[in-house]
Amino acid sequence: MSPCNVFYGTLVHSLSITELEIITNGVLVVDNGVIVHMERNVEDVDAYLQKNEIKDYNLHRLNASQFIVPGFVDTHAHAPQYVFTGSGMDMQLLEWLNTYVFPTETAFKNVEHADKAYTTAVSRFLRNGTTTCSWFATIHLEACQKLTDIIENLGQRAYIGKVNMDQNAPDFYIEETDASLKNTRTFVEYVQKKESKLLTPVVTPRFAITCSSRLMNGLSEIAKEYDVPIQTHLCENPDEIQFTCSLFPESKDYTAIYDDHNLLGEKSYMAHCVHMTDDEIKMLADRKTGISHCANSNFSLHSGVCDVRRFMESGVKVGLGTDVAGGFAPSMLDAIRSTFFASKTIKVLKRDGMLKGGDDYVPLSPAELLYLATMGGAKVLGLQDTIGNFEKGKAFDALWVDLENDGGVDLMGMESPYQKVQKFLFNGSDKNLLHVYVQGRRVAGAASA
Ligand SMILES: [Zn+2]
Repeated sequence: MSPCNVFYGTLVHSLSITELEIITNGVLVVDNGVIVHMERNVEDVDAYLQKNEIKDYNLHRLNASQFIVPGFVDTHAHAPQYVFTGSGMDMQLLEWLNTYVFPTETAFKNVEHADKAYTTAVSRFLRNGTTTCSWFATIHLEACQKLTDIIENLGQRAYIGKVNMDQNAPDFYIEETDASLKNTRTFVEYVQKKESKLLTPVVTPRFAITCSSRLMNGLSEIAKEYDVPIQTHLCENPDEIQFTCSLFPESKDYTAIYDDHNLLGEKSYMAHCVHMTDDEIKMLADRKTGISHCANSNFSLHSGVCDVRRFMESGVKVGLGTDVAGGFAPSMLDAIRSTFFASKTIKVLKRDGMLKGGDDYVPLSPAELLYLATMGGAKVLGLQDTIGNFEKGKAFDALWVDLENDGGVDLMGMESPYQKVQKFLFNGSDKNLLHVYVQGRRVAGAASA
């Protein structure tokens, strides 16, 4: 048996969307990747360990510029698109897909290319503190298996999806319906056979435009049969919505298209949801389907500004996504900041009468932003009992933050603990992440060891 790891110092985590708890003199005892003790206000850590008969341990003492926070959960990112991140940001969605996305993703039929690109992408996300990520890959089975192997080796907690598309796609990047379904089964079985507690296959129709009814029905059957989640895109951009609805005139709106194909449920989550009617939001709430709010992408491809508070107040689960490379930043700190700007934009539009709702709208607070990037994402992925905060029994997926590590933050000595957290959220960077842990294993970090 290897010794426990004991962390003693400031712990920061969300108890609920409105309750950010900052524990000074906190103790976390991690055994075999799991939090076995969490204690508040401990004056003497040695006495605490003795009292609890914890004998075999490594003690890590945090200093006053350091704290531990749950690892970030990115609920929506495209691994192959990392290779062209930042390109084509002058375009909007459908033009950008045809110009950059489809040609780039086609190259992933070459597994060697996939190996290099995916290793780079996943390493970068880990360095930025994304301990859990829900990935879209491409349509290519072998490259999807390669991505799974890479993530397993690098140690990230991940949901991994082989993308499906059998219509309205270029000749060089499209599948036959039967082959798409067969390869999806093979991929799901490939991931499940690993029996890894960190890896989950996710059924991934790209979006309704590129999926026939037969494909979507087949995919919902696969998700049910293997009991795996479903991810896709929904209501991202006005042109996309119009085109989508024209393809499925028998469904009453875009959200109903997925519902009519049995793709909405408790294990489903939808990226974007920028332009939704009250009826569509109610349908997501009724089906217990979550959303991934991707504010950087929504600004960058000028898709629109999503009012996530509207979803939260309707009882829809909300997490954050980078949507690399519709969003240009592979960082959840950026997702937090973009979400902050989106929320402030909604506030201004309502105040000035350009959106209905009046002047009493409350933008998201820093506590809410941190919740959405951790616990909110965990709930969207159905991982609320596994990660998201430091409750006893959860996995130790965490970031050891050091504000003195030249990561863009200057401490002046007068900051309250809450101000330190805010300085990290708004000015911090990967250099402030000394250690990044997934299930207790150190998988990245700015510290040399
Ligand atoms: Zn996306």
